[in-house]
Amino acid sequence: MTAVVEACIGLGANLGDAQATVGQALACLAADPEISRLRASPLYRSAPWGRQDQPDFINACACFVTGLTPLALLEKLQALELAHGRQRLPGGHWGPRTLDLDLLLYGQQVIDLPQLQVPHRWMHARAFVLVPLADIAPQAGIAGHGTVAELLVGMDTSQVVPIGG
Ligand code: ADP
Ligand code: MG
Repeated sequence: MTAVVEACIGLGANLGDAQATVGQALACLAADPEISRLRASPLYRSAPWGRQDQPDFINACACFVTGLTPLALLEKLQALELAHGRQRLPGGHWGPRTLDLDLLLYGQQVIDLPQLQVPHRWMHARAFVLVPLADIAPQAGIAGHGTVAELLVGMDTSQVVPIGG
């Protein structure tokens, strides 16, 4: 039997119809035969992080059960980014993108490979990750930092606003 684990991912988009793109990505993941029991947060709008000269982001999180290895899951997420027209533009990290899928948590595992660090290295400090993640996994532990709910205490979440809420 394949070992299964609950993984959590962060979704972000800020080009084109970002809301539709995030919705489509969630639908693709929910329909994937290697993914089951997907739970998705509501969608949020957030001010851009890192670089301010770009449109607001649509953000969400999802948790699901999978037998995929962490690297196989990363590959699936990157293929989904490409399928939604993601281009890795010069200028690197934090720039605008049609779809960004980050592997936040893979069970309790700590992974430190050149192409994959889990828990995602900045998730503990990002309100646009922690706010949606708290909707579906408030008790999830981020190695070395505490739980999602604990990290949100005292954090400024004013820039992360529910859509249509
Ligand atoms: P960012 O999301 O930080 O703005 P990218 O989405 O362009 O940047 O990711 C750059 C690289 O980050 C990817 O090629 C991937 O190999 C690496 N990476 C490391 N850890 C993770 C993770 N936990 N989830 C997704 N990508 C990761
Ligand atoms: Mg990314």
